[in-house]
Amino acid sequence: MPQFDPSRVPASRVQSQFGSNDPRDLALHSFGKSFCDQLRAFRNDFSNAPDLVVHATDEDDIARAFALASKEGAAIVPFGGGTSVTGGVECPRTDRPVISLDLRSIDRVTEVDDMSRVATIGAGALGPVLEAQLARHGLTLRHFPQSFEHSTLGGWIATRAGGHFATLYTHIDDLTQSVRMMTPTGGVLETRKVPASGAGPDPNRFVLGSEGAFGVITRATMRVFRKPRFRSQCSVKFPNFAAGVEATRNIAQSGLYPTNCRLLDEREALINGVTFDGSAVLVLAFESHDHDVREPMERALKLAIREGGLAEPVRHRTENDKDLGAAEQWKSSFLRGPHMQSALISMGVLVDTFEGACTWNRFAHLQESVTQSVMSAIGKLGAKGSLSCRFTHVYPDGPAPYWTFIAVGGNGDLLDQWRAVKTAASDALLECGATITHHHAVGRTHAPWYTRERPTPFGAMLSAVKKAVDPAGIMNPGVLGID
Ligand SMILES: Cc1cc2nc3c(=O)[nH]c(=O)nc-3n(C[C@H](O)[C@H](O)[C@H](O)COP(=O)(O)OP(=O)(O)OC[C@H]3O[C@@H](n4cnc5c(N)ncnc54)[C@H](O)[C@@H]3O)c2cc1C
Repeated sequence: MPQFDPSRVPASRVQSQFGSNDPRDLALHSFGKSFCDQLRAFRNDFSNAPDLVVHATDEDDIARAFALASKEGAAIVPFGGGTSVTGGVECPRTDRPVISLDLRSIDRVTEVDDMSRVATIGAGALGPVLEAQLARHGLTLRHFPQSFEHSTLGGWIATRAGGHFATLYTHIDDLTQSVRMMTPTGGVLETRKVPASGAGPDPNRFVLGSEGAFGVITRATMRVFRKPRFRSQCSVKFPNFAAGVEATRNIAQSGLYPTNCRLLDEREALINGVTFDGSAVLVLAFESHDHDVREPMERALKLAIREGGLAEPVRHRTENDKDLGAAEQWKSSFLRGPHMQSALISMGVLVDTFEGACTWNRFAHLQESVTQSVMSAIGKLGAKGSLSCRFTHVYPDGPAPYWTFIAVGGNGDLLDQWRAVKTAASDALLECGATITHHHAVGRTHAPWYTRERPTPFGAMLSAVKKAVDPAGIMNPGVLGID
C-alpha cells in the first residue's frame, strides 16, 4: 500500500490564518470517492488539491469564506463527506485558487417538531451523527445510502441522493420539507416550512441537486419517522432476470410500496453470495411503525410467484433475530461492497458502477444495449471482464438499474481504460432514452451527458440562476455543466 507523500501536494496559493493549508488536509480534500479518485489517491496524485481548507463551524465562517474568496479571486467547493463519485468536490487546478469549504462541524439537530414529525438538522451532519441525535427523540430519517456513514445531509440534498426506501421516499427530495442556503451575494434562500405548496415553481427545487453551484446549504428541515416496529423480509428466486423484472414491475405497480424491492440479476446474486445456483433474486421488505406488514408481504409474494418466483420463508424481524437469510446476506454484502472495490482498484482491477432510470417499456432494450456497449469497450481494451445489474429503486413507471463492471488485463493506462468504458456506458444510457443518473449526481464527470439530456432552455435558465446568486462564478465551477 503506498504511503502518503506530502511533497506531492502543490504549494498553496492562499495564505490566511482563517483555514488550513496543512498538506494532509489539502490532500484529503482533493478528491471524492470515484474510481478515478481512488486510483489517483493510490498514485499519490494530488494535482487537484485545493489551496486552503476552511472548516466552517457556523454561518459566520461561511460568510468569511465568501469574503476571502472574493478578495483572493478564488473558487469555493463545498465539501460534505467527500463521497462524490462524479467529480463533485474535485476542482481541477487552474490559475484560480480553490478554497474547500468543509461543513462537517455544522452537524446539530436544532429543532424537533414531533407533532408534525419534522426535524431541523445542520447540513454537515454525517448519517450516523444525525441518526444518533434523532434517536434520542425516538425518531429516524431512515435515509441510508450505501455511503451513509461517510456522507452528510447537505451532500445528500445537493446531489439528490437515493436512500434506503426502494419505493415512495426514494430520493432525499421526498424527505425535505425546507432548506436554507447562503449565496455569495449575501442573499439567503430559506424556504417555508409547509407540507406542500402550489405557489409557483418550488424554491426547494433550486437547491435540491444544486451541487454547490448556487450556494452553501447550511440546514434543512426534514420529514422524520418513528422507528419501525414491524418488519417482514423475504427473498424470491427467479429462473432468470427477465422473470424477476416482470414480477418487480407488477409489485411496483400494485400500490403496495415495499420498503425494499431490489432485484439482482444472476451474476449480481452470485458475486454478492446471495445464491449460487444461477438464479436472479428479488429482495423484498415491508416495514411500519404503526401496523403489521404481513398482509402486504403476502400479496407481493403472490405477484412474484405468479411470474415463476420461488420464495424463501418470510422472516418477521424481532430484536434478537440475527439471521434473516438471503436478504441479510445481501445487506452485509451491500455494505462490504465499497471496501472490496477499493481493494480491487489497489490491485489494478478496472471496477466501477454506473446507474440510470428508464421506463419499463424501454428496459429490455436498454439492458441489451448497455451490455453490448460495455462488453465491446472492454473487449477493445484487450481485457476480460463482466457486467452485472440490479435494480436499486423501482417506480410504477420504471426501474432504476445499477450496473457493476469488472475487467482485468486491458492495455494502456487504467484511467484511459476507465474513460473508454464509462463513455460507452453513458452514451448507451442516453441513446436508449434513459437518464445519465438516478442518484449519483452530475458533478463534472456526467456534465457532458447531462448537458445533452437537459432541455436547452433549461440550461439557459440554470445559467441565469447562477448569475443571479453567484455573479463572480465563485461556487464550484464546472459542476452541472455551468460555469
Ligand atoms: C461507496 C459509495 C456508495 C454510495 N452510495 C450511494 C447511494 O446509495 N445513494 C446515493 O445517492 N449516492 C451514493 N453515493 C454517492 C455519494 O455518497 C452521494 O452523492 C452523497 O449524497 C454525497 O454526500 P457527501 O456529503 O459525501 O457530499 P460531497 O461528496 O462532499 O459533495 C457532493 C456534492 O455536493 C456539494 N455539497 C456538499 N455539501 C454541500 C452543502 N452543504 N451545500 C452545498 N453543496 C454541497 C459538493 O460541492 C459536491 O458538488 C455513494 C458513494 C460511495 C463512495
